[in-house]
Amino acid sequence: MQDNEYLTSYYRPQIQSVRHLIATGFFLFPHNETALGDGGLSALGDAAAHLRPALSRLLSEAWLYGFGPLLLGVCACMASSTAFHIFWNFSPAALKLLSRIDYCAIALLCASHSLTGSFWGFYCSPTPATTTPHTVGVLAATAATVVAIMHPRFDSPAFRTTRAVTFSVLGGICFTPLAHLGAVSGWHPEFTTEAVWLSGVAAAYLAGAILFATRYPECCARKGRYDLLGASHQLMHVCVIGAAALHWYVCVRNFRYRLVYGCTLSPLVPV
Ligand SMILES: [Zn+2]
Repeated sequence: MQDNEYLTSYYRPQIQSVRHLIATGFFLFPHNETALGDGGLSALGDAAAHLRPALSRLLSEAWLYGFGPLLLGVCACMASSTAFHIFWNFSPAALKLLSRIDYCAIALLCASHSLTGSFWGFYCSPTPATTTPHTVGVLAATAATVVAIMHPRFDSPAFRTTRAVTFSVLGGICFTPLAHLGAVSGWHPEFTTEAVWLSGVAAAYLAGAILFATRYPECCARKGRYDLLGASHQLMHVCVIGAAALHWYVCVRNFRYRLVYGCTLSPLVPV
């Protein structure tokens, strides 16, 4: 049907069937709207073709660096913790070995939080100056902590302070990416929001550590009240799971944010 006085041919006839309209619109024969219909379709296809590799690259990078380390750290921690709680009463040697492995897994968990945070934090500026010192520092501190935990030489009470200091240094180094990011980003609102979420993660871990160290609430309750449920160790585990889940949520937020707001080095905005 003609709708343009300057175009005199290649019109489609009147078709009162949606199926046939679609068929003739795109496929059956050339007409003067072929370029419009097929153009729109090909534009969509073109966008999808460009977006697909970009999206799959973002997905693979995110899984490798943005979610993978955290998932590995949490799984290692939960697996070693489960092994400890099921098998520790096998023998005194088993108790010693499993508790060492459990502490090593906690060190790995700290590192996984830090490396994941570093990936999302420096996503738009992944230069050697921004990420390498953190990665090397976190991995070196984790290795030193694992040695301090596993080596028999550091087993004696005389090295209790050494072990505590090593863990504290690891904890401090794990926070350096966040501090570095704050310093270079100028504490803009986007960073501050993420920092608040990550402070929630840290607060959950700190609450767990305080409960574990103080033996609260069983320390202050009548004898036997928390023997089965609600003791400090159980609450500490709840805190750890809550902290890990919260950081996972922060990663999901970052991923969604990067889908919408790319940056120069983002896979979604080809340079
Ligand atoms: Zn436990």
